[in-house]
Amino acid sequence: MPMMTAYRMADWQRPEYMEVPVPTPGADEVRVRVAGVGLCHSDILFLDATPGRFPYTLPYTLGHEIAGWVDEIGPGVAGLAEGDAVVVSSHLACGTCTYCRGGFDNYCTAYTSGLGSGRDGGLASYVVARRRSIVGPTTLDPRHAGPLADAGYTSYHAVRRILPKLRPGTTALVIGVGGLGGYAVQYLKQLSEARVVVVDVAPHRLDLATSYGADVAVMADEHIDEAVRAAVGAAGAVGVFDFVGADATMKLALANAATLGSVALVGAAGGSAIVSWESVRREVDVFIPQGGTMSDLADVVTLAEQGRLRMVDEVFAFTDVPAAYERLRRGDLQGRAVVLPNG
Ligand code: NAD
Ligand code: ZN
Repeated sequence: MPMMTAYRMADWQRPEYMEVPVPTPGADEVRVRVAGVGLCHSDILFLDATPGRFPYTLPYTLGHEIAGWVDEIGPGVAGLAEGDAVVVSSHLACGTCTYCRGGFDNYCTAYTSGLGSGRDGGLASYVVARRRSIVGPTTLDPRHAGPLADAGYTSYHAVRRILPKLRPGTTALVIGVGGLGGYAVQYLKQLSEARVVVVDVAPHRLDLATSYGADVAVMADEHIDEAVRAAVGAAGAVGVFDFVGADATMKLALANAATLGSVALVGAAGGSAIVSWESVRREVDVFIPQGGTMSDLADVVTLAEQGRLRMVDEVFAFTDVPAAYERLRRGDLQGRAVVLPNG
């Protein structure tokens, strides 16, 4: 049986390189030779988790932002040929539940795990994915396209939901402009008329967001409350995106949402916030999205193919996955960390 090396959760808090069999695609499945895998901040939650935190069976291979080349096609798969470049959504979807039928594969009720989160993901030479979860063939270089399949489409999903409110003269506030937030700024500038205010603790992230077109950059320091209020204006921001999800950022997000505005709580730092008559303006909608739809993924792949997205990444060799996660944890990456399992 052919074997490959995979970077796996051997046990909770114990990731390891392990030898595993090369997977075989079943019906409606495709084996993808992995080109590039983006490392997402959510991976840190998996790496640090204690038993019982996630409903996953260990071990499993990490890596849920996957792009690669079609390697072997299972029975019943149409529209793909060996060698095609593809981008893979990590969501597993039954195709028949209410959410799948509505196009929301990301909320399929049949699965609590996905590729790289409870099931074998992309940090290996090969991964098997369902045809339904694959966008392609694409003209993108799959070594750099993986981050579209979480950072790219999750932030797109959140922006799209608020887009109708972001008319000329409105303001959008983006808190945390790392992987997801960096894409959000680009969608907001390209698809909406809103002025975009960004907040981060890292100066290099603010600089990158400014290079994406952000109009005002605010450093998250002890003056953050006054600085953000001054930047968004007295009426608040019609669209607010929290890509951190800590107590302080959720509070900041809710406090700065305009009347009839929307707040997307995307970051998973585990915070909470008090909603009261005083803390939130009237008729503010709050939602917590998870991932994006296949239509979102197709859209962001198209935007990237059209050259309208900057996908800044820092490339790591497969042997350097632990070092790449350490950089992600420290917050000093200059772009998305992307690992190339096949060099
Ligand atoms: P990232 O590390 O690339 O970016 C996070 C950014 O937030 C960094 O630029 C960091 O400097 C900044 N930041 C940290 N603390 C801050 C604070 N207090 N105030 C302002 N800025 C701050 O992370 P990412 O991969 O973009 O993920 C962002 C968050 O979204 C994570 O919590 C991740 O788990 C979550 N996430 C959620 C979904 C979903 O479906 N809802 C999907 C993917 C990731
Ligand atoms: Zn389903």
